[in-house]
Amino acid sequence: MTRRPLVAGNWKMNGLMASLAEIAAMGTAYDVYLKTRVELILCPPTTLIGLALDVATQGGVGLGAQDCHADASGAHTGDISAEMLKDVGASYVIVGHSERRADHGETDAAVEAKAAAALRAGLTPIICVGETRTEREAGEALAIVGRQIEGSLPADAPGTIVVAYEPVWAIGTGLTPTLADIADMHAFARERIEARLGGGKGRTVRILYGGSVKPANARELMSVANVDGALVGGASLTAKDFMAIAAAY
Ligand code: PGA
Repeated sequence: MTRRPLVAGNWKMNGLMASLAEIAAMGTAYDVYLKTRVELILCPPTTLIGLALDVATQGGVGLGAQDCHADASGAHTGDISAEMLKDVGASYVIVGHSERRADHGETDAAVEAKAAAALRAGLTPIICVGETRTEREAGEALAIVGRQIEGSLPADAPGTIVVAYEPVWAIGTGLTPTLADIADMHAFARERIEARLGGGKGRTVRILYGGSVKPANARELMSVANVDGALVGGASLTAKDFMAIAAAY
């Protein structure tokens, strides 16, 4: 089964109008050769999606958002629906990032509802899962991630959805699991995704690794079986680092 590698940048709550130049630089560096090897998308803050559309499209870089509401419209002051994101040019949306699970108390059920909303709007959800340090130290990492997959993936989701395994303790810390631990987790995640969606669809789902992916470690991380790409935070803020990661493929 060949799955097209996906490198996704998550700018989190970073980026102003001046950052559009960085997105343009990513498009320029995303050359014909890289395009044949890896799909590249960037998830800037929602304020920049519509503004970035032209430069991103010119460069062949896809755009995604970092969250959406589970409803298509309605009385939810301050929230943004998947339809709105699609309308301004997003094709992906991250749901269930650990920072949202922690900061906004998002449960697996809430994440599943958001993923379903994304699919209804024609967006591809990138559904995030991952254990905390305490959970890993207690030997519960697999059980936690298994439960998150079971609870956060809509059972009728197509095989085009993306799952990102991001150990919470590896995000923004410079720490990464061993390659053996990543291999174990991604094999386990593949098995659980197949159990949830059915084998045919489960085999085409791309499973990204996220958490302190940098130009220096991207090649070895991406060489692990069942790692179909990367979700990159800090190192996606500059075209130089982000493109060096993409070039690891
Ligand atoms: P990081 O963040 O690459 O800065 O560790 C990854 C993420 O939170 O998606």
